[in-house]
Amino acid sequence: MLCKICSGKTEKRFEAVILNKHVGSYFQCPNCQFLQIGNPTWLEEAYKESINSCDTGILARNIHLRELASVIIYYFFNHSSQFLDYAGGYGIFTRLMRDAGFDYYWSDKYSQNILAKNFEYNSDLEIELLTAFEVLEHLEDPLQDLNSMLSISKNLLFSTELLPSTPPAPDQWWYYGTEHGQHISFYTKHTLRYLANYYGLNYYNFRNLHLFTEKRISKSTFYIITHFYNKLGLFKNLQKKITSRTQSDMDYINSLSK
Ligand SMILES: [Zn+2]
Repeated sequence: MLCKICSGKTEKRFEAVILNKHVGSYFQCPNCQFLQIGNPTWLEEAYKESINSCDTGILARNIHLRELASVIIYYFFNHSSQFLDYAGGYGIFTRLMRDAGFDYYWSDKYSQNILAKNFEYNSDLEIELLTAFEVLEHLEDPLQDLNSMLSISKNLLFSTELLPSTPPAPDQWWYYGTEHGQHISFYTKHTLRYLANYYGLNYYNFRNLHLFTEKRISKSTFYIITHFYNKLGLFKNLQKKITSRTQSDMDYINSLSK
């Protein structure tokens, strides 16, 4: 089968049992190192709930990502602009970012917006940067989704765990997620470099957090901010400089019903 990223010819690496009953075949592209499942026939079953019930880290992750995303936005982008959390799930991250003071919006084709109602994305908004956390590993056609994300903004901050260039065996890497079956696309650092290059964007990386951007930013500043923002108290600092939208959002939503 052909690689969904670079159209190169892929090689079968291994099989794994998914959702305790399906057999998934994993193919890797020698050119861009992308690893894809060839036959994910179980997706409907896997998505009976849009957010898998074994994701106990959902709140801790969102709280952590809020701080990181906030400092990255504050130091490298126009923080008084508008932002979008793409595939934003229940709206947790959008709400947290609005509480932190950013004009954040939500969109998701598959999930119900529970916490960020009235802040749905529409195409009139000018989005400075788009976040997509834990999205890329779910994509059946990554280029198609990346095209639509990048048509909204050329600055994309996203998370996905990096696949080692030699893929671990199925029982040796939790991120394959064989127990829930929702992860079907896996990227090495090389794959992400390939993608950034394909879109003519710069690529910056901190652990499982990735930034594709049209901006050229200082690698050392990016390193310091992502590694030491906590020690340097950067998030607390910026919270003093930006006004939270918690109260004004409530006033706004109340005014809609009047
Ligand atoms: Zn490829």
